[in-house]
Amino acid sequence: MACTANDVAAALRAAAETVAEHRVELTDLDRPIGDADHGENMHRGFTALTAGLEGAVPETPGAVLKLAATTLISKVGGAAGPLYGTAFLRAATAVGQAGELDAAAVVAALRAGLAGVVARGKAEVGDATMVDALKPAVDAAERAEGDGVAAVLSAAADAAEEGANSTKPLVARKGRASYLGERSIGHLDPGAWSTALLLRAFAEVAR
Ligand code: ADP
Ligand code: MG
Ligand code: MG
Repeated sequence: MACTANDVAAALRAAAETVAEHRVELTDLDRPIGDADHGENMHRGFTALTAGLEGAVPETPGAVLKLAATTLISKVGGAAGPLYGTAFLRAATAVGQAGELDAAAVVAALRAGLAGVVARGKAEVGDATMVDALKPAVDAAERAEGDGVAAVLSAAADAAEEGANSTKPLVARKGRASYLGERSIGHLDPGAWSTALLLRAFAEVAR
């Protein structure tokens, strides 16, 4: 099954619902190691995106991803806004003008999204950021490419969840949590967890 612009819009609406459901959880994760706003930031951005997708959905998957990028950059704020915005912008560029996305295009979009986050934030795996969820997600997506879009997204979501959980014992080396040094140990990174939630929402829609 390939994804149309409407499918991508449906995935983003589902992501917005998940973010709304997990708003308090994400903010609570950001409290001990940050400034207790990650859930609010994400919710503000995805609420604006849902509003932007009401009425006419942009014509191509790439145009929908671009709308997500510009909306998240302008509404999420903090560190996560530019990072997620860049991820969606790079994903939009990767898929170009295609009318439908097959599994290879979805993998390419995820890979480009990761490259965007890394270019912008300079974090590596092990720094306790969203990269710890997104990098293994892209690796798993690549391995599942032959099995179709739904398999790609579900493999990515599983790997992202595991990767997010792996941030707990780590010392944070990027973002606000890094100001705590060793005291950041024992806390799940909020951005890694939101990445896992977004990918799970996309996977559920593609199923
Ligand atoms: P802020 O820290 O500005 O309040 P948020 O709370 O919305 O922004 O987002 C924090 C999340 O952003 C972190 O949990 C982490 O996953 C992510 N993050 C911060 N800095 C970086 C970075 N340099 N690279 C990758 N991710 C980062
Ligand atoms: Mg914060
Ligand atoms: Mg903040």
